[in-house]
Amino acid sequence: MSAAETWLELADEDPFGVHNLPYCAFGQDRFRWPGVRIGDRILNLAAAEGRDLIDAGGAFLGQATLNRFMSAGPPVWRRVREGLTELFTTPRHREAVEPLLLAVGDVRLDLPFEVADYVDFYSSQEHATNLGRLFRPGGEPLLPNWKHLPVGYHGRAGTVVVSGTDVPRPHGQRKSPDDPVPTFGPSARLDIEAEVGFVVGVPLQAPVPIDDFRAHVFGAVLVNDWSARDLQAWEYQPLGPFLGKSFRTSISPWLVPLDALDAARAPAPPQDPAVLPYLRAADHYGYDIELEVFWNGTLVSRPPFAGLYWTPAQQLAHLTVNGAWTRTGDLYASGTVSGPTPDQTGSFIERTWNGTHPLQLADGTPRTFLLDGDTVTITATAPGPSGTRVGFGEVTGTITKPE
Ligand code: MN
Repeated sequence: MSAAETWLELADEDPFGVHNLPYCAFGQDRFRWPGVRIGDRILNLAAAEGRDLIDAGGAFLGQATLNRFMSAGPPVWRRVREGLTELFTTPRHREAVEPLLLAVGDVRLDLPFEVADYVDFYSSQEHATNLGRLFRPGGEPLLPNWKHLPVGYHGRAGTVVVSGTDVPRPHGQRKSPDDPVPTFGPSARLDIEAEVGFVVGVPLQAPVPIDDFRAHVFGAVLVNDWSARDLQAWEYQPLGPFLGKSFRTSISPWLVPLDALDAARAPAPPQDPAVLPYLRAADHYGYDIELEVFWNGTLVSRPPFAGLYWTPAQQLAHLTVNGAWTRTGDLYASGTVSGPTPDQTGSFIERTWNGTHPLQLADGTPRTFLLDGDTVTITATAPGPSGTRVGFGEVTGTITKPE
């Protein structure tokens, strides 16, 4: 379906044409509704269902987020997607639909779903190798478990925030090898991690078999896992990331349904050694999502998601294989997306090689780690049907002085 076939005036190359239809939660004043984006407009889904324009089985009526819709499962997801496509492509629906459309710029974009639990993985071999070299110089960069399981940690769901939310510089303990004792203060090595997050719709109180990924996962968002490297380096052994990451995690307001990403499916890199049976998928694939990272408007990196060693299906199978339950709204992020070259790295500690190779921004100023007032924006697109691109929009945030 090309964008030209809609009654909306969209360019063929619009990344938010009918082939995409990402969901959101948006607000005006004290009100909030679930919505779907078409072009640069949002359809109020609560109003559309209330007027019987779509049949979501009540999943949008009286709702402020997407959680109820996400929990409804693939048959309802597909019925709604087909219904929306029909509304946007059949001219006779224009009269009923057009009054329910609002300009994206006229509304407040909120968190699209209520975040249940948050897990962050570490699934880029290039990123794990780079961080191993930087954090444990002289040792083997990849630890012995890395190619046998998707390494991850449980993060903090309560401080997941929507794009545009300020990020106050965190305080904490840090101790460099030369310091005799730790000191306390604002992080001096504040960084980003460009990631893609996957969102659970249908919960299960049992392990999710790897081939059931699509029966449970609704869609994907962009994630910036802000990271205070000085806090992280002092605290992370032996139990992993803690306060160096939990202060804020930003996500994009657009939840792209996996049904919009079928053309972006791509074979995942071969895995050697062979993985255990519960991590073996009938179809071993990832997604060809191309990210871009902008630092105060300067494009500084283009991380390729397609190269990730562990797939989203493997991550979900692994995080539940011990019997851990999933809930609607569980968010699990990929880990920093880094490709093989420096201009494909998804963190600044890699991009500047621990601050030893400063970046030059467009205004002529150098950067190693983030300064107060700096803004980082991560965008992404993926292949859609018939040569289109699927837009993820952006996740952006500005560093403010410590609270
Ligand atoms: Mn991360």
